[in-house]
Amino acid sequence: MPEKKPSIKPFGYNGKILHVDLSNKTWHVEEPSEKWYRTYVGGSSMASYYLLKELKPGVDPLSAENVLVFACSVLTGAPLSGFNRFTVAAKSPLSHGFGETEAGGFWGPELKFSGFDGIVIKGRADKPVYLWINQGKVEIRDAAHLWGKDNWQTKEIIREEHGDKRIRMVSIGQAGENLVRFANVQHEMAHFNGRTGMGAVMGAKNLKAIAVRGKGKMILADAEKVREIGRWHNERIKSHPSNINLTKFGTTFQVSVLNHTGMLPTHNFRDGVFAGAHKINEVTYHDTIFHSRGTCYACSVKCKREVSKDDGKYLLDLRHGGPEYETLGTLGSMCEIDDLAAIAKGNQICGLTGMDTVAAGCVVAFAMECYEKGILTKEDTGGKAIRFGNADAMIWLLEQMAIRKGIGKTLSEGVKRAAEIIGNGADRYAFHIKGSELPAHDGRGKTAMAMGYALSATGADHVECPHDTAFAANISPLNPVGLLDTVEPLINDYNKVRYFSIGQRVWGINNCYGICNFCSVPIHAMDFDHLVKTVNAVTGWQTSLFEIMKVSERSITMSRVFNNREGFGPEDDRVIRRWHEGFKEGALKDKPIDRDSFRKVIDLYYEVSGWNAEGSPTTGKLIDLNLDWLIEEAV
Ligand code: SF4
Repeated sequence: MPEKKPSIKPFGYNGKILHVDLSNKTWHVEEPSEKWYRTYVGGSSMASYYLLKELKPGVDPLSAENVLVFACSVLTGAPLSGFNRFTVAAKSPLSHGFGETEAGGFWGPELKFSGFDGIVIKGRADKPVYLWINQGKVEIRDAAHLWGKDNWQTKEIIREEHGDKRIRMVSIGQAGENLVRFANVQHEMAHFNGRTGMGAVMGAKNLKAIAVRGKGKMILADAEKVREIGRWHNERIKSHPSNINLTKFGTTFQVSVLNHTGMLPTHNFRDGVFAGAHKINEVTYHDTIFHSRGTCYACSVKCKREVSKDDGKYLLDLRHGGPEYETLGTLGSMCEIDDLAAIAKGNQICGLTGMDTVAAGCVVAFAMECYEKGILTKEDTGGKAIRFGNADAMIWLLEQMAIRKGIGKTLSEGVKRAAEIIGNGADRYAFHIKGSELPAHDGRGKTAMAMGYALSATGADHVECPHDTAFAANISPLNPVGLLDTVEPLINDYNKVRYFSIGQRVWGINNCYGICNFCSVPIHAMDFDHLVKTVNAVTGWQTSLFEIMKVSERSITMSRVFNNREGFGPEDDRVIRRWHEGFKEGALKDKPIDRDSFRKVIDLYYEVSGWNAEGSPTTGKLIDLNLDWLIEEAV
């Protein structure tokens, strides 16, 4: 276990990790050393540490034996745009491997202000409970009255119960309770720890919510320096083109960009151009359903969207947020649905019931293709024609999945397991990587991103490495980490391996230090120099870009060891069949990812990373990263 901390009060972090055992209804506080915090710092790195230490290989992700980690970082809660993220991690019910997902919002900072840097949850309550953390005091409370309630109702009831509207909450809806494998953890209807099924893990533990209230202050080593960096950062956000775009349109502009470049996932990844893209793009969005912008703690970008409309068919409630790009892609073009109000309605259903819109949209598209091919029929769907383009069918399927009813019960297992249950060749249309459905970015147009989908420990992940297209014309933001040549998005060669390997470690920084990618290095307003200065000003450490990159590499390596000991190997580092087939039209027509050259870059990445031919980190690499305690674990 981590060494005891020294007696001095740390800067930035609290030095306290809360451990809760739901089976015994007990809890205790661990106080790790400064050395431990400096080694693991937070987020995905801290979560990987606890999953490797506390979770035995081979356990059922939906059993009491799974371990669920909520991890802030040493920086979470610093008064800077984007320094608000926290990680939720456990063994994933979708992949049976490493499960991890980040969200921004306000919950992470509130947990820090309440006195804790993270929570490690074991066991399973014998009846529904919620955790109430108030100024460092912890209670495990009865949640019988909350079970069956949606996420909005849960938040309102708990706030009313305590007479405090400022309580921050993560919770699950009916989907998490019903063990939908892609259930998410949501926070205030706008922020989602969406991927890898962490809501189902909460549901399996009978844990409905974690409500937090903290009035403490984050003690900064050099508060004036942090304020100075914050002013610089916010000024830069105002003039940085990518941040200006995010403020104006959120992420919705991606619909136009990706459709124009021929890689907007359409018809279950069959096509890259969607005829109805103009009906769901950023212009239509802001002309029709947009109401206002939302934000996260201390962030001046304000990329969140809130929508409102009553067209007589779909009532969109402003309080329930609005779809971001990924949802427009998965519930929209993937299902060939061009009705923006219907997509926003689907987004609200997912928000209220607690389902990841990425996975849910992919599952709907899979079901629609099975119906198109005659693998599913009206007998399976209770008479519904679940055709591509049928918005009512999309909404109906989402509702059925959340309550696991009829065909929804099969689909709630995710595409991999649903295809096994359905049989009859359904697996040809079940697109997943390591059991995880794919976000709305097509790897045929961005091969480093495709490497990220293949190599991410969580399965298909579009935020594993900065997308190739961001650096096709100008690589200068990545010069400080030694990348000097611009990136060719369609090429698969050793240069791409180098770009991916370094780019992965760069974006991994944001997951470990709890920073939003939309505010941070390397694409948006933060630069490496100010990032290093921020860590130093918050913590009082004398860190360097070298040490920060090592933290990220350590985290990537730990999650790989986790998967290796669960039985994952090189055959799992792959992309989907359709990406090895060409598009029939659009800018990327007849440009598939070549299977052999892709395998070669994956194998070369193992070498670059200090992994053996089986994709396992070598003893030398583990020693290099201060992970000698994992030598026995690595297989
Ligand atoms: S850029 Fe958007 S997602 Fe990121 S912290 Fe700001 S408001 Fe939140």
